[in-house]
Amino acid sequence: MNLTILGATGSIGQSTLDVVGRHPDRYRVFALGALRQHERLAEQCLRFAPRYAVLADEDAARVLRERLATAGCGTEVLTGPRALVEVAAAAEVDAVMAAIVGAAGLEAAIAAGRAGKRILLANKESLVMAGEVFLSACASGGAAVLPIDSEHNAVFQCLPGGRADGPGIRRILLTASGGPFRRASLAEMAKATPEQACAHPNWSMGRKISVDSATMMNKGLELIEAHYLFGLPGSRLEVVVHPQSIVHSLVEYADGSMLAQLGNPDMRTPIAHALAHPERIDSGVAPLELARIGRLDFEEPDMERFPCLGLAHQALDAGGGAPCVLNAANEVAVEAFLARRIAFTGIAELNARVLDALGARPAGADVDSVLALDRDSRRAAAALLEEVAA
Ligand code: NAD
Ligand code: MG
Repeated sequence: MNLTILGATGSIGQSTLDVVGRHPDRYRVFALGALRQHERLAEQCLRFAPRYAVLADEDAARVLRERLATAGCGTEVLTGPRALVEVAAAAEVDAVMAAIVGAAGLEAAIAAGRAGKRILLANKESLVMAGEVFLSACASGGAAVLPIDSEHNAVFQCLPGGRADGPGIRRILLTASGGPFRRASLAEMAKATPEQACAHPNWSMGRKISVDSATMMNKGLELIEAHYLFGLPGSRLEVVVHPQSIVHSLVEYADGSMLAQLGNPDMRTPIAHALAHPERIDSGVAPLELARIGRLDFEEPDMERFPCLGLAHQALDAGGGAPCVLNAANEVAVEAFLARRIAFTGIAELNARVLDALGARPAGADVDSVLALDRDSRRAAAALLEEVAA
């Protein structure tokens, strides 16, 4: 199987290469794409010898090109706005790992869908921003979408048919670890630093998704993601806090059965599942020792301390452009928090204000109109930043 990995230098990208490296007989890397981390990408190119490497940053691409030429590596280095789309849709490619963070991953993911690739979807933001547009591109190209997000991968594994809108299914329950502030007071959260917010108790991830886990916006985005992937309305999608992150999510059936998927919190499990589906391959993840874990706890999420969860439900119920608006506001808010321009609790505040202002906009009917709504929402968020910061 020929693979393109978008976001190769990130947390998911590196885990993907770890799994791929265990199965050189099954997988060949066709292209690796990233933003600007040329050193890590150079190491990956030397090890996996892809046909192409893409860096969005032109200066970084130049450095990478020189480094690979010196090392005698035959990988061709591409840059420019179309390069990611080209390596995602190229005829030689069978599967695309969509693991660029944020809205930047949208166009290449859609191109892969239109070209009928197997899409291993980590980039939840593309589904949240452009659910209908993305899914209709996948349908038109006959692309299969396999969720990488651990919760959605778990739900997929608990749903033999892949969709939940058929008879006999009651609800989907997404588990949430509760993040680093599960027990923190609102006053403590107001003073939280980026370092504290990024220190996730169970998962090691990129900074953006780590902050999203701390606000629980990550779970909110995942509710919206689950809606598009599995076809259920918000009223049948629930969040349950499960601090051990061993049960990755559950499906409840009409007969009272609940099916769950369990495993150690390591993204190589969903990655290996989606790479090999319907077969199973070794992922390098240690087996789960249930007796050593001893207990699994569950509790209701606290909607007051984690208002981003309510905002996601609000956006899901409103439909139209609301999820895209919320996602864009949140990207601006997280960036501002990481730059210490707003408080941790300012993230939810900014998200709420932008959603109130623009949440009634219709959904974009194509990529350009989705990106236009994304831009408008970012502009509105940026304009409100000073008020939230104060
Ligand atoms: P990360 O920050 O570690 O990596 C992001 C990757 O995207 C990097 O390779 C970076 O170079 C690339 N990138 C960023 N902007 C780009 C641009 N403009 N053009 C090209 N490449 C660009 O992030 P991550 O934690 O690996 O997360 C990636 C995606 O997977 C996110 O959408 C996240 O929500 C999702 N996800 C991650 C995890 C996890 O455990 N890390 C779990 C579930 C879902
Ligand atoms: Mg997740």
